[in-house]
Amino acid sequence: MIAHAIPYSNLLTDASSTQWGRQRDAQRKRVYDSEHSIKSTKAKTFSLRAAQALVDRITDSDYWQLIPNTPQSIRVIHSTRAFRFSRAHLSKDEIHLAYWGFTYKTILHELAHFLVPEPHAHHGTVFCARLLQLYTIILGTRCAARLRLSFDLNRVTYK
Ligand SMILES: [Zn+2]
Repeated sequence: MIAHAIPYSNLLTDASSTQWGRQRDAQRKRVYDSEHSIKSTKAKTFSLRAAQALVDRITDSDYWQLIPNTPQSIRVIHSTRAFRFSRAHLSKDEIHLAYWGFTYKTILHELAHFLVPEPHAHHGTVFCARLLQLYTIILGTRCAARLRLSFDLNRVTYK
């Protein structure tokens, strides 16, 4: 399970930092910083039902289906328990979103975690490349270019 606290000012630490079989998650904070510094990536907030519809649209897409070992579907859970965290629950095919997580930014971030096989780091180069692809497909090239620029400025590798 990968937990993210992505509040709008300061970042909390990931709940599970290292996992056996994965590379060290060295650029996690810089990835968070990159995402935060891009101005409102379609700042729309989703209802639970709309968030699930977005996730279904992505998991049904050719893009998703062509990547090996991706789950056929992912369930969106409104996380009321640990409300400070949004997380990707990889073994359960679920994303748990905190109240602030019903946005494109958080949903795409959590989904990108399902596209990163071991031994790649949770927020490593493969993750960032996948996230840029999701931005391109869902939000368009302009939003993706903004994230790419932010990655560059924050010295995040994505290729
Ligand atoms: Zn993450």
